[in-house]
Amino acid sequence: MTVCKKCGKEASQNDLVCEYCGEPLGRTMNYEQEQYKKKVKVSFYEKTWLLWVSLFFLPPLGIFLLWKYGQYKNSTKIILTIVFLIYMFAAYSGGGA
Ligand SMILES: [Zn+2]
Repeated sequence: MTVCKKCGKEASQNDLVCEYCGEPLGRTMNYEQEQYKKKVKVSFYEKTWLLWVSLFFLPPLGIFLLWKYGQYKNSTKIILTIVFLIYMFAAYSGGGA
């Protein structure tokens, strides 16, 4: 239960300000910030997920996404690019025979 710092009355968890005196409820604001942080984190994981799917199923697009959005060091990106270029050529040349 959130208690108003100014008037000491109990406030609803969902309220941003105290319904009795209008004082901002810090705890609720922090909760909003937490939710926002979580959202940012999720969108990063979604991008990473998309990046790896692209690398396996459409390597040219995956390599492009890796360099544009990948949160990796340049040396890691170079290694991943080489690995997936080899993977791409192996996948396309190996299937025909
Ligand atoms: Zn109050």
